[in-house]
Amino acid sequence: MAPVTRFAPSPTGHLHLGHAYSALFAWHTARSEDGRFLLRIEDIDRQRCRPGFERDLLEDLDWLGLTWERPVRRQSDHFDAYRSALDALQALGVTYPCFCSRRDIALAAGAPHEEDGNGPLYPGRCRAVSVTEAAARIAGGQPYATRLHVANAVAITGQLDWTDRSAGPQTARPELLGDVVLDRRDTPSSYHLSVTVDDAIQGVTLVTRGTDLFAATHVHRLLQALLGLPTPGYHHHGLLTGADGKRLSKRDGALSIRALRDHGHTAAEIRKMAGF
Ligand code: GLU
Repeated sequence: MAPVTRFAPSPTGHLHLGHAYSALFAWHTARSEDGRFLLRIEDIDRQRCRPGFERDLLEDLDWLGLTWERPVRRQSDHFDAYRSALDALQALGVTYPCFCSRRDIALAAGAPHEEDGNGPLYPGRCRAVSVTEAAARIAGGQPYATRLHVANAVAITGQLDWTDRSAGPQTARPELLGDVVLDRRDTPSSYHLSVTVDDAIQGVTLVTRGTDLFAATHVHRLLQALLGLPTPGYHHHGLLTGADGKRLSKRDGALSIRALRDHGHTAAEIRKMAGF
């Protein structure tokens, strides 16, 4: 079946070669298989995202020669959709409020794992807070995040599978990332929740993204099962690295598409640098 792919950048900085690679990967996959290519702006983090970066990334992608279907989905326009999904999860009894600060978690965890680079794996402390105590704390105005109770969720769904075009069939292991956050005190959704909802709403049938998000897919598979959403195919691709062997990051300003363009590189040259 002709795939529907997407590129889903966050406007927290300028696109670099690694993003160009990921965007071109999704675009070429769609083009070469008579599919469709969609774009999504992942801007739920209102502190870090800037409209100027969104404008610039659309311009960069256009300059690189990519074409996409309109309208572009912007996550900050759809908080109501994520809220409904969260309500559905709450009704299933697979969430709990977490009152821990990032500092509490860092101190309690001492684990080397990271939940998407956002901090250490959550040690599950607030699972033990009783419903009455949680209600009292919330009524008292204590800030909290909502977490997915992975063990309770898996007890409902049973074992789940998904397939990666490169790595092959996978048994879902959502416990690898722990009880992930579904909404935060300052953001009424989370990466995991909004991505899962949006891929379904946009009708994405093949999610292509970097291997850095491989573990996240186990969680997304669980959310799909809980929310009754379809499971797309996946293709996690390798990540471009810099001269130091480290994966490119937005902090490498020198490698931004804009900087390369300002230095006189053509779009064809940049596509080639990114491997296309
Ligand atoms: N917004 C994410 C990022 O910029 C990509 C999410 C995804 O492809 O699922 O890293």
